[in-house]
Amino acid sequence: MDLKWLKEWGDDALRVIFPKVCEVCGRSLTRGEELLCMHCYLDMPRTRLHQEQFNVIHQRLAGKAPIDRATGYFYYYRDSDYARLIQNAKYKNRPIIIEQLARMYVKELKSDKFFDDIDVIVPVPMHWFKKLRRGYNQSEILANALSDATGIKVCKSLVAKRGHKTQTRKGHFERWLNTKDLYDVKDASQLKGKHVLVVDDVITTGATILACCEAIHSQSPSTRISVLTLSVTHLQ
Ligand SMILES: [Zn+2]
Repeated sequence: MDLKWLKEWGDDALRVIFPKVCEVCGRSLTRGEELLCMHCYLDMPRTRLHQEQFNVIHQRLAGKAPIDRATGYFYYYRDSDYARLIQNAKYKNRPIIIEQLARMYVKELKSDKFFDDIDVIVPVPMHWFKKLRRGYNQSEILANALSDATGIKVCKSLVAKRGHKTQTRKGHFERWLNTKDLYDVKDASQLKGKHVLVVDDVITTGATILACCEAIHSQSPSTRISVLTLSVTHLQ
């Protein structure tokens, strides 16, 4: 028996009792909408960086680490409604936002073959103490969601050797100093000769991802590295 109508009726009833709202504008979501209403979904400041061979992410990492492909879903303008997506996911205990954004992004990237020949997804690690305090590492949530949507496995071979102070108000050089030698690779053989996709929720100056790439390359020079983030900060 086809019970699809029953499920749809149940979903509609639930929506009336517990209305889901758009994370950007607060409007009630209708059937088929997830996380964002159609208007905010279409209005999202997408970067489309995966369509550029040498883009702003390559530039931020240029000359310091050879990066194959690099992309980020949308531009992050401080205090913008879309930046709030990342802030809520990270600081307000809403990791589900990361999962939903990852699913949406994979759908858009798949047709451009972004994930072709990527062997393994590597999340930017978080020091264990910080993870204990927050309850989760948003980059791991992202890596797992990307893995579910693409079938590419996750490898947690990068580790954070120590905690580092928040980077929010630091300049380029300070960020670089703050992250230098911060990461290490355990069991580099897992990455040898592979094409890895390093993932993080946001890229700002690129210091964090650069430090990860340097750690991978120093222990496994044959590894090819690509980068994916959900948001890309606009630098002044
Ligand atoms: Zn909206």
